[in-house]
Amino acid sequence: MSQLLDTKIEFLKGVGPLKAEALKSELGIFTVGDLISHYPFRHEDRSKIYTVAEILRQEDIYVQLKGQIFPQGIVGQGPGRRFTATFRDHTGEIELVWFKSISYIEKYIKPGIQFLIHGKISNFKGRINMAHPELEALTSEFNPSLLGLTPVYPLTEGLKRKKIENKLLNQLTKQVVTQAYFQVPECLPVSVIHKFKFVSRTQALADLHFPPNLQRLEEAKRRLKFDELFYLQLRHLQLKGNRNRTIRGLVFEHVGEHFNTYYNNYMPFELTNAQKRVLKEIRMDVKTGKQMNRLLQGDVGSGKTMVAMLSMLLCLDNGHQACIMAPTEILAIQHSISITEWMENMNVNVALLTGSTTKKNRIEILQKLAAGEIDILVGTHALLEEDVAFQKLGFVVIDEQHRFGVAQRARLWKKGQVVPHILVMTATPIPRTLAMTVYGDLDVSVIDEMPAGRKPIVTVHRHESTRPLFMDFLRDEIAKGRQIYYVFPLIEDSEKLALKSLMSGYDMVCEYLSPPTYKYSFIHGKMKPADKESEMKKFKQGQTNIMVATTVIEVGVNVPNASVMVIENAERFGLAQLHQLRGRVGRGAEQSYCILISGEKLSENGRKRIKTMVKTNDGFEIAKVDLELRGPGELDGTKQSGVLDLKLADIRSDESILIAARNEAILWLEFDEMLMQPESLPIRNELSKTPNRTIWSKIS
Ligand code: ADP
Ligand code: MG
Repeated sequence: MSQLLDTKIEFLKGVGPLKAEALKSELGIFTVGDLISHYPFRHEDRSKIYTVAEILRQEDIYVQLKGQIFPQGIVGQGPGRRFTATFRDHTGEIELVWFKSISYIEKYIKPGIQFLIHGKISNFKGRINMAHPELEALTSEFNPSLLGLTPVYPLTEGLKRKKIENKLLNQLTKQVVTQAYFQVPECLPVSVIHKFKFVSRTQALADLHFPPNLQRLEEAKRRLKFDELFYLQLRHLQLKGNRNRTIRGLVFEHVGEHFNTYYNNYMPFELTNAQKRVLKEIRMDVKTGKQMNRLLQGDVGSGKTMVAMLSMLLCLDNGHQACIMAPTEILAIQHSISITEWMENMNVNVALLTGSTTKKNRIEILQKLAAGEIDILVGTHALLEEDVAFQKLGFVVIDEQHRFGVAQRARLWKKGQVVPHILVMTATPIPRTLAMTVYGDLDVSVIDEMPAGRKPIVTVHRHESTRPLFMDFLRDEIAKGRQIYYVFPLIEDSEKLALKSLMSGYDMVCEYLSPPTYKYSFIHGKMKPADKESEMKKFKQGQTNIMVATTVIEVGVNVPNASVMVIENAERFGLAQLHQLRGRVGRGAEQSYCILISGEKLSENGRKRIKTMVKTNDGFEIAKVDLELRGPGELDGTKQSGVLDLKLADIRSDESILIAARNEAILWLEFDEMLMQPESLPIRNELSKTPNRTIWSKIS
């Protein structure tokens, strides 16, 4: 049965050693099984045969014609050298032209024989021609089953150079799937196949390549997409299950003095319902003895930090230390400032450790950490270094987690003898489908509500030429006591030039809002951390009115009095970045604004991005558009996830199949977690064929 699939590609009729080599090196096709797994990316409808009369006024479409070919000969020289012929049916004629493979074509076309030709027509001043048509001589050997929906396969340039064309892959695949004993192992349990009224996997594969009609093609796709997504989900869930079985989590049973004192006496605001719900989810998790791995998604400004704070207090109440790691120094500093402020009247020791902590300070922090005298350690990647050892680490918060690599995350937990609970937070909302696919092994909490009293940010798009007008607006805002962010993208490749363009941007703003009347903070990526910190502080404490910066301020910076975000060359930013930047304002009770500035000329994508920003403040909606525009491969953090290995399924359009597949995987593992029941045999076999890839979001 699976012998056929294991057969080497050389054994198929029509594959010599050269072609076999090309198929292997270019497409990784070694066996018949590989060939079958090389899916077509579209089908052409070859059931329709056009006449020349029908296509006279057409252009740029693929058509199939039937008639005779009369060679004309070779014309031109050099790269323009070509062979032409006249194609004629009973309604008219068109010109055929070849620039390559001329000697082969010359021999192949003979007058007096009927040909089927297929290709894209172009219309040059009323004269129709077709370059490099596919030819099929309608001799006695012609197999009419080649008509109908025919597959078009992905090919590489290398293959085309080696004369391997779509037609060959077509023939080879046809050879395989029409064999009487063509059969692939079934990978779904019978009950699942029945439940969803799926065709068998064998049928699905045959139909995917050579569908008898469109409906069968759709059925085949529905089945094969389900397979892909089912196995992706099953792997996520197995990973999660294994973790729960093998790792013993710390039990945080009581809500104690730290938590209660802070919650009841010092918390500066009432939690939103969403924050309360998430906190409850975390509390339920950490008291069960399972090790928590939770992703907290919440739009920018939704108040994730306070949830992290309260969780860490819960950890302290249960006798452990906690830490929070941020991707940038600015953000770590800011967390340390707010946490220290929040903990002002509490008996909690907070320390900050970053790459620029002085040696002396560092030694002291490490000593205290090991002695258990520091309760909460805030920091950057610096927390990951070997010698950073806690006495009893119990809870790890990773902020803006998509900015960290896998290895980095894994290293954090090794700092405890016992695996700590892990809360990863992300302000880059991703659509539910993507979350399921990328983070399928994590528990997900969502803060879907903003703190009360926030006014939605008003976003406008302005052209550069109207700069004087919005500069007046900025003056008015500053006169009201508000502060302004003014952001420039890094346009130049070289750091030096980038800084220069930032400087000239700075000068330009100063011309309108001139110092010393207006006071500036200025931050860019290459500044010394201490300088960054002092610039940031000045702005935060209201000593400066305008913060001119690059995107270093993108993540997490929190200055509630800042009410305007101006972004120059907005068309150069991605949607996620624009949303993050805008999220720096609208954090206080005042009406906030975001001004997106661009030139007059915009690419279609650039226009769509700006339009989306103007239309909505909802991070999830923005993420959806982003996913549509860029595809999952370009989104933060998806590169190493299974999303990109999907061959047929597209999480953008196959949401319902994805959800069905996930639910089915959950149900199946509930029924047979270890896959030991006879009904699970197809699943067991399938899993044993492909070893479990490391799923990147794996954090322990
Ligand atoms: P993010 O989720 O983007 O990390 P932050 O945690 O920085 O957001 O919170 C944004 C701002 O909202 C902060 O100034 C924070 O103190 C404030 N905040 C958080 N929760 C609430 C709440 N429930 N009510 C009022 N303000 C809140
Ligand atoms: Mg944050």
